[in-house]
Amino acid sequence: MALPGTSSGLHIVHIAAEMAPVAKVGGLADVISGLGKALQKKGHLVEIILPKYDCMQHNQINNLKVLDVVVKSYFEGNMFANKIWTGTVEGLPVYFIEPQHPGKFFWRAQYYGEHDDFKRFSYFSRVALELLYQSGKKVDIIHCHDWQTAFVAPLYWDVYANLGFNSARICFTCHNFEYQGVAPAQDLAYCGLDVDHLDRPDRMRDNSHGRINVVKGAIVYSNIVTTVSPTYAQEVCSEGGRGLQDTLKVHSKKFVGILNGIDTDTWNPSTDRFLKVQYSANDLYGKSANKAALRKQLKLSSTHASRPLVGCITRLVPQKGVHLIRHAIYKTAELGGQFVLLGSSPVQHIQREFEGIVDQFQNNNNVRLLLKYDDALSHMIFAASDMFIVPSMFEPCGLTQMIAMRYGSVPIVRRTGGLNDSVFDFDDETIPMELRNGFTFLKADEQGFDSALERAFNYYHRKPEVWKQLVQKDMKIDFSWDTSASQYEEIYQRAAARARAAA
Ligand code: ADP
Repeated sequence: MALPGTSSGLHIVHIAAEMAPVAKVGGLADVISGLGKALQKKGHLVEIILPKYDCMQHNQINNLKVLDVVVKSYFEGNMFANKIWTGTVEGLPVYFIEPQHPGKFFWRAQYYGEHDDFKRFSYFSRVALELLYQSGKKVDIIHCHDWQTAFVAPLYWDVYANLGFNSARICFTCHNFEYQGVAPAQDLAYCGLDVDHLDRPDRMRDNSHGRINVVKGAIVYSNIVTTVSPTYAQEVCSEGGRGLQDTLKVHSKKFVGILNGIDTDTWNPSTDRFLKVQYSANDLYGKSANKAALRKQLKLSSTHASRPLVGCITRLVPQKGVHLIRHAIYKTAELGGQFVLLGSSPVQHIQREFEGIVDQFQNNNNVRLLLKYDDALSHMIFAASDMFIVPSMFEPCGLTQMIAMRYGSVPIVRRTGGLNDSVFDFDDETIPMELRNGFTFLKADEQGFDSALERAFNYYHRKPEVWKQLVQKDMKIDFSWDTSASQYEEIYQRAAARARAAA
């Protein structure tokens, strides 16, 4: 462990669009706070820079106050003032940027999905670097995440390094290669990047559209590039790379897949304040008490107490295998189980389709579909469910399968990306028994899914003792950030050492 103030303690700044629990859309938010806390625990100075969204959970921020400084930053030929707020989230120091720009970039009552997202986040990336530059901080690692803050890498090396701000090294993590930030080349100029210099095939020009691609820019310009699981890292070097596979191959020496952890303080069934009854692997009474409580809360039938409850908590987007989720509802009902889905969709036709299924099951007291985002309810579903499905078409890492295991809900997943690195089939004799923790399938069709679900139901009904041991084993697996944070620590240290040597 590095001690603060010693040469091995690094100063790490994450620049991101999300952070749990203040501004969460998906797994990115969990990573920022989970990885941040784990690195802080290892003795590093970790700070976060976020936009100051109007729709954030302000009550999750301690000591929120505006600083007595105004940071002026370049955008579209002008300088704009920005208020800088500070506060503590989950024990981590956070800077919130509030632009004084007429575009009211973060006053939109939502995080993403605005027509000018490219402008909003290129603006934010520029101010975040400007803040670091003006503060005179001696940062070792600037870690940016996904396309929203991928602008940081070219901005740092093409703009700020020329001003003498060059001692930090840039780490870029791509949490999902589906979202790359592709736009007309001239849009790069908004934040002060040089379009002529960057609109080239070996820099930021998209590999197929002739537009510019911000994630590509971050791959080219960062010192370290990571993604969120070893299997996904392999997948994106071929078809999974959505056009960026060749770029990744060229830069393969600095590219690595590190499996995300989960925040084991937030996700801890023995202290979780959202649960009716807390429980642990050695005392599973609480698990059945939560199942009974959830059934009551959602008006699910309680007549057969031992009926297995299958859970699913997800954004309803094609990536997550919505056709298999839909199928799983019918299949679970057919097998005599109960199904609870918590999920909402940014895609209108999917949201409507699931609203239709809600209507179909209105009078069925074994199925509940809750089409919304609800953190408290998600904790109860993890605790109450016996099985948890993640039938994704692709899955960079996936957190819900790990959270489910920690709550004793056995995962049933498609073998892709991070699911392949965290769930190992209970019946696969080629895998050591101690690693086998769930049920997996490969083919993304109904038969594939059914085979895994049916096997889980069989164990659950016919071998309750074996099932209980599996539940207990899953609950004891270490999914904490500790191991993954050590891997980040190692690559940060190497980059920082090279930077010192260069200086
Ligand atoms: P992704 O980042 O692709 O959405 P992950 O599995 O990495 O998927 O992370 C999803 C996170 O968001 C998990 O913490 C999960 O519990 C949470 N989540 C997803 N949908 C909902 C919802 N409708 N209500 C509450 N939490 C949700």
